[in-house]
Amino acid sequence: MADTTLRAAIVGGGVTGLTAGYRLSRGRGWEAIAVLEAAPRPGGNVATTRADGFIVEHGPAGFLDNVPETLALARDLGLTPVPSNAGARKRFLVHDGALARVPENPIAFLRSPLLSPAGRLRVLAEPFARRRPPGDETVFHFAARRIGTEAAAVLIDAMVTGVFAGDSAALSLRSAFPKMHAMESAHGGLVRAMLAKKWARLRGRGDAAAGGPSGPGGVLSSFEGGFATLVERLAAALGDKVRTSTPVLGLARRGGLFELATPAGAIKAERVLLAVPAAQCAAILHDALPAAAGILRGIPAAPIAVAALAFPARGFPHSLGGFGFLVPRRERLRILGALWSSSIFPARAPEDSVLLTCMAGGARDTRAVTLPDAALVALVMEDLAAVFGPLPAPTRKFIFRYEEGIAQYPPGHEDRLAALARVCGTMPGLHLAGSSFRGISVNLCVVQAERAAEAMAAGP
Ligand SMILES: Cc1cc2nc3c(=O)[nH]c(=O)nc-3n(C[C@H](O)[C@H](O)[C@H](O)COP(=O)(O)OP(=O)(O)OC[C@H]3O[C@@H](n4cnc5c(N)ncnc54)[C@H](O)[C@@H]3O)c2cc1C
Repeated sequence: MADTTLRAAIVGGGVTGLTAGYRLSRGRGWEAIAVLEAAPRPGGNVATTRADGFIVEHGPAGFLDNVPETLALARDLGLTPVPSNAGARKRFLVHDGALARVPENPIAFLRSPLLSPAGRLRVLAEPFARRRPPGDETVFHFAARRIGTEAAAVLIDAMVTGVFAGDSAALSLRSAFPKMHAMESAHGGLVRAMLAKKWARLRGRGDAAAGGPSGPGGVLSSFEGGFATLVERLAAALGDKVRTSTPVLGLARRGGLFELATPAGAIKAERVLLAVPAAQCAAILHDALPAAAGILRGIPAAPIAVAALAFPARGFPHSLGGFGFLVPRRERLRILGALWSSSIFPARAPEDSVLLTCMAGGARDTRAVTLPDAALVALVMEDLAAVFGPLPAPTRKFIFRYEEGIAQYPPGHEDRLAALARVCGTMPGLHLAGSSFRGISVNLCVVQAERAAEAMAAGP
């Protein structure tokens, strides 16, 4: 490929790579950059199918509107976030085979059937929990220590399924839920941290900006036309700087420049950002930085199969008033949960239909993603019928598979990132960002992308 040397090459055109490319390209003198994307379309995990009145998300449904970087990015792209419907604040868990609402306040919690009376009392004892043990604690261990094993198994395990499709006993609290870790570090407990936050608010000193004990908060938001509108706008703004169907096979450093190997030939660049999942990063760095590749192979990902099914709205046996439900592990179902997509955002299905987006697989069921479509739909239908009662056959089926769906941060993740930074530091101009590193949410991918773009613009 006859190519002049690029000032920057960004490998991976997911939301991380596109955002980094967009931010970099806004600076003066950064015309000669490229985003190299293996797939025929940019966007990575963020994708939307629009067909016959349906707007169907393949993966992420949206972002929480409490991170300024994503809001500013949307604004710069001329996009107005669409908040989820107010009714979608209601969330459910499967409990003894039926749907039970997740309590939203302490009174509702005390009345909730989700935990036994002893389990609820144990949650109330949170301020007296044992102190944090040394080392990198798992999410499950943390929750069991602070609010008891029952609440950890029912509430926290389901939350981890909902966010990471992960195993709460195999994820580092500090890396996967850093805010919760910080709440305990700063205030000695979750209740104390929440009281401190309330107190600060009463005194007019919100602490979210200071990195204090702000919970997840925020309203789930998306865009007109679906979440992919975000990556489509980014790609449109970058224009021919995005090169699709361009997989990067390897990287070498020669004469002070990076050389990226692609099937169409080498691409030279002064700086490189790898914005691809850890396994692909490892493959790209295998020859140039084998030590980095070894560390990267220690960051796994959980596969997910998504089945979005439409049913006639008339006669559907549930009002679907809410966000959807998650399935705690002790329930005998194979799906991880279902989003009631046509209830969450407006105009996601024709008036006469409802749309349910069901997830299967995750870290504990890595084979679900390999099931053929018919078997996947059969298992989803069986589990939906167990929750709702008999259902008619779906009128539309949209199936998506993510073999490396969501990055998992096992204990030791922070040490792994520190080691990675040391090894990559031996190759100035090489940067890494994306969901395998410092946050899996689109919000945190955007934040990482902005930081990477700043570092690339400032550094060698
Ligand atoms: C089912 C599902 C539901 C989710 N729901 C939510 C949600 O509701 N909210 C939320 O905030 N997050 C959600 N997430 C997480 C979020 O989607 C991801 O963490 C985020 O989109 C990752 O973006 P990324 O750019 O870092 O990586 P990716 O989206 O994985 O993009 C990486 C890109 O790199 C490309 N690539 C890989 N190897 C190469 C190579 N060698 N050369 C060139 N290109 C390469 C890939 O094709 C891909 O396009 C969900 C994820 C899944 C799977």
